[in-house]
Amino acid sequence: MTTDLSNLPPLRDSLAAHGLMAKKSFGQHFLLDLNITRKIARLAEVGPGHTVIEVGPGPGGLTRALVETGARVLAVEKDPRFEPLLTELAAASDGALSLVLGDALVADEAALAGGPAAIVSNLPYNVGTPLLIKWLTGPFTPVSLTLMFQKEVADRIVAAPGASAYGRLAVIAQVTSEARMVMEVPARAFTPPPKVASAVVRLVPRADRPEPALLDALQKVTAAAFGQRRKMLRSSLKTLGGAALCEAAGLSPDARAETIPIEGFLALARATLG
Ligand code: SAM
Repeated sequence: MTTDLSNLPPLRDSLAAHGLMAKKSFGQHFLLDLNITRKIARLAEVGPGHTVIEVGPGPGGLTRALVETGARVLAVEKDPRFEPLLTELAAASDGALSLVLGDALVADEAALAGGPAAIVSNLPYNVGTPLLIKWLTGPFTPVSLTLMFQKEVADRIVAAPGASAYGRLAVIAQVTSEARMVMEVPARAFTPPPKVASAVVRLVPRADRPEPALLDALQKVTAAAFGQRRKMLRSSLKTLGGAALCEAAGLSPDARAETIPIEGFLALARATLG
């Protein structure tokens, strides 16, 4: 069963009725066009029988679109000013929407969802990358993630070896998930418009995600290798074993980080574990 929210006032009117303005400190850039939020909800491939955790519902444009799919939506919002508006939306949603006031960085998704859940969010830019790393490497593995980032961050998530955007984020994202950029969104689509364009990335966690110790080692290797990305691995990885480590991983010590595919970094990480 899906929920009909067509009687709700336009988002701009809801914001005005509650006297709400965007706050920069919370990374607030709102999507007030329901055509865009419905498209994101479609890209998320959620519907009846699914649980969705939405981070940062704000005025609730994406939240409305997610509730309309028929999914159960748990919305985690840090800015308490939005509580009255979102409580009204929850009341109109026939029990499909639950509001959780708090910080998504420390939220316990497993306890919240009580089972499998997808994550969908127009992310606050200031905490987008730490949240992504938490969901890709932490104890709760989402069914899928459909996330709006600054376009530059989206590029870094899906970058292939050799690309200038290829770095730590690409390696961690792609070793733990299948990541695709599925939609670009111009700055003018947001209220207020940010300085840069945005894009939606869809990530589906891999069943064969490396175990925590290997992920830890991978974080160390990629931090060292891309920390000095123009240097040869023999030099950038010196403290981790230098040329001998590269050889143990079957890689040329003269190669540079940006040319090494994901499997190469995994081999390096394994070699550090002995
Ligand atoms: N989803 C809304 C939309 O698309 O119009 C708002 C998106 S806005 C880019 C980011 C939202 O995340 C804001 O509502 C902001 O208050 C909230 N937020 C910021 N930091 C947060 C955090 N650490 N945990 C939960 N929500 C947060």
